Amino acid sequence: MTSTHDELALAAAYVLGALDSDDRRTFESHLAQCPVCRDEVSSLQRAADALARSVPQRTPRPELRARVLSAVTGSGSPEKREGSTPAVAASWLPWAAAFVLAAGLGGYAWHLQGRVSTLEARLDDAERRAFAAERSTIEARQTAGEAQTALAVLAAPDLARIDLAGQRPAPGATARALWSRQRGMVFTATGLPVAPAGRVYQVWVVTAQAPVSAGLLTPGPSGGATAFFQTPTDIAAPVAVAVTLEPAGGVPAPTGEMYLVGKPSPTL
Ligand SMILES: [Zn+2]
Repeated sequence: MTSTHDELALAAAYVLGALDSDDRRTFESHLAQCPVCRDEVSSLQRAADALARSVPQRTPRPELRARVLSAVTGSGSPEKREGSTPAVAASWLPWAAAFVLAAGLGGYAWHLQGRVSTLEARLDDAERRAFAAERSTIEARQTAGEAQTALAVLAAPDLARIDLAGQRPAPGATARALWSRQRGMVFTATGLPVAPAGRVYQVWVVTAQAPVSAGLLTPGPSGGATAFFQTPTDIAAPVAVAVTLEPAGGVPAPTGEMYLVGKPSPTL
């Protein structure tokens, strides 16, 4: 608002209906030619509408205007607007109206912003919790499933135990396979070195005909690994279980160095 554009200061008072009819006519004719003031009025109008919706309006506008004017001029009623005091008041009334509107809007906007931030934070939190709960449920279900599967193997009437010994690349490694033709294999290993990049441990059920892949094994940082493998039920009786180091993804027949091997106990 510069001194060359005093009309802009009247925009708020105009929007609030606080201009008298002469000032309003003058301002409206200015408005018709001034896009800056039109923008100001339309943005204030939107804000004032938002305020009006957010706060119940019980006071009729003319009565409010009369009260505002009498409070500003210090006179009992707007009809007594005469002399110098009302003129002074009238000159700063638009500024006061602008200030009240700006303060009201600022507070309202600040309040809304706070509400939105709070709701957004709550939503984020709820989403995080829902996601965590969902993940926990999946993990719990998976763990329960694995435990149940392992238990089923351990309880199998045709259970065989195969102890594996570490070979030249990992003499300290040991493993045990608990195998049921009907229910699969629970395999645990300890002391395996971390597989080099691009390589993976592969477990084999070695039959008289050929080694059959049971699956891949990924030891943790401490060298331990536990896995459940579903082996083919029509597999020939195993003569050994072995672990080799193979290219990532595994291979159909062993190609790499053997890390662990063991024969089934004679009871099989
Ligand atoms: Zn203007």
